[in-house]
Amino acid sequence: MTVRTGTARLGPEERGTALAQMAARELDVVVIGGGVVGAGVALDAVTRGLSVGLLEARDFASGTSSRSSKLIHGGLRYLEQLNFDLVREALQERALLLQRIAPHLVRPVPFLFPLTHTGWERPYVGAGLALYDSLGFSFGFTRGVPGHRHLSRRRALRLAPALRRSAFTGAVQYWDAQVDDARYVMTMLRTAATYGAHVASRTQVVGFLREGERVTGVRVRDLEAGTELDVRARQVVNATGVWTDDIQELVGGRGQIHVRASKGVHLLVPRDRIHSLTGIILRTEKSVLFVIPWGRHWIIGTTDTRWDLDRAHPAASRADIDYVLEHVNAVLSVPLTRDDVEGVYAGLRPLLSGESEETSKLSREHVVAHPVPGLVMVAGGKYTTYRVMARDAVDAVAHGLDQRVPRSCTDRIPLAGAEGYQALWNARQRLAASSGLHVARIEHLLQRYGSMIGEVLTLIEEDPSLARPLPGADDYLRAEIVYAATHEGARHLDDVLARRTHISIETFHRGLAVAQEAAELIAGPLGWGEEQVRREVEYYTKRVEAERLSQEQDTDQEADAVRLGAPDVVPAVVPRSA
Ligand SMILES: Cc1cc2nc3c(=O)[nH]c(=O)nc-3n(C[C@H](O)[C@H](O)[C@H](O)COP(=O)(O)OP(=O)(O)OC[C@H]3O[C@@H](n4cnc5c(N)ncnc54)[C@H](O)[C@@H]3O)c2cc1C
Repeated sequence: MTVRTGTARLGPEERGTALAQMAARELDVVVIGGGVVGAGVALDAVTRGLSVGLLEARDFASGTSSRSSKLIHGGLRYLEQLNFDLVREALQERALLLQRIAPHLVRPVPFLFPLTHTGWERPYVGAGLALYDSLGFSFGFTRGVPGHRHLSRRRALRLAPALRRSAFTGAVQYWDAQVDDARYVMTMLRTAATYGAHVASRTQVVGFLREGERVTGVRVRDLEAGTELDVRARQVVNATGVWTDDIQELVGGRGQIHVRASKGVHLLVPRDRIHSLTGIILRTEKSVLFVIPWGRHWIIGTTDTRWDLDRAHPAASRADIDYVLEHVNAVLSVPLTRDDVEGVYAGLRPLLSGESEETSKLSREHVVAHPVPGLVMVAGGKYTTYRVMARDAVDAVAHGLDQRVPRSCTDRIPLAGAEGYQALWNARQRLAASSGLHVARIEHLLQRYGSMIGEVLTLIEEDPSLARPLPGADDYLRAEIVYAATHEGARHLDDVLARRTHISIETFHRGLAVAQEAAELIAGPLGWGEEQVRREVEYYTKRVEAERLSQEQDTDQEADAVRLGAPDVVPAVVPRSA
């Protein structure tokens, strides 16, 4: 093992090296799935001293982990269900992520809870939020966010003038936290790679290696090269979210865990469409609806409906969009229309199958199982508690390894970019002066890269044209597009526009106006010729067109059929069952 100095890159060369290393020797652990849970498992295992590989069939975080509400929260809903342990655990994670593990990526966010009844509702909601605040304290940490406060209707309207006066009687404001979910996963994988994990995207597990009953590794298809390789490992972890059952089928055994999918749709609208200084949470008949500040936008969602169709590209239908608009419009004085919607995304909750048929009532808690020797399954849970899920999964791995493995230490492992972030944040005016960038740009960069900002600024020093904003998506600098390919594991245009940045949901053109320039910027680092640039733009354009059209369809079936009309630039294969 070599000891690395500096943060690992996830560029094309590093992917090649990672695959070669995985093929060369038996690993302690190989993880299937590069969402938040798989990335968490890789980091937990490698920081306990184990040798680790991670395989992701598509792009990192391209499953559920880039399509969430992007909240790090305890979940007020679970409080109402009296699930105090779940809420406490999640709020303790919130404090840890905010203050130690990723202060550059996780931020406090305020929510207004409008009250609609007089009398009982204020004491009921107030007591719940007081409990929520107190469960947020954990040993050695403060809560990391301000406490709740009661507001009269007049004061609430001052904070959120967009609310219709007659829609509520008063309000309570409380705080939670938010995160760029896709960037968090990628940053965690860079951190894991820094500690020595081998990670590779667009590598699909298509079979298992067996010695009798025991799983001894996986058969992997390198989807970019079209070749296959074997990765041997003493323990394999299945962290594939809504694909969990597929992996179970591949291993041929009857699974102990069943996961089913529930679709949640979010809309983005420009910030000026809702005049408010705070996020808003609304009750719906089934669950809650959030209006979440997101840079120069609002994220509004979500829905909760059963989904049995394509899991790689869940499609939002007209009905989903209308549902979200209808619920938010119930409290706005100036209603939103479909013309206000600049972006739409849909994600699938990996729900452990339960007795109840109602998806919103299915358990959000996680399960770890050891269905056959050599294989650990981890599923369920939620983004906020990924670290706990990862710890439990690696404990099961340790059990299977039959050797002494140190306890989890990820509660003390800051993610790449966290160390030194606060000092740089405090010096942001000076950084702005020395780099020639506006301080608002420096803040944006610090909140995406933390103390790795120097790597982006170095790109700009080497090529000053990269300091220019990307025309058509000017929240982002051209340097950030290049950096996505050189350091952050982006291998295709879609990776850059949908996950390293969020241009695909933050602009009315959904990335089409910048696709050509972005593809040209990453062509060099990724070794593309003109033909590949053309192909990438063509695939991306087809994706956007299919998504737009699917959002005009009335039903899930129609939306799914239309969305599937746009193929992936690197399609996954249909694996053969054992
Ligand atoms: C609408 C919505 C809103 C949500 N909001 C929140 C929230 O605000 N806060 C919160 O805490 N949680 C939230 N959640 C829950 C949270 O997002 C998920 O629990 C979490 O992201 C699941 O992560 P995962 O790693 O299990 O799955 P995924 O992110 O889906 O990762 C699984 C990965 O496995 C890969 N894979 C599958 N098969 C193979 C194979 N054969 N070989 C290699 N790789 C494979 C997939 O490509 C995928 O990337 C939300 C979920 C949804 C759907």
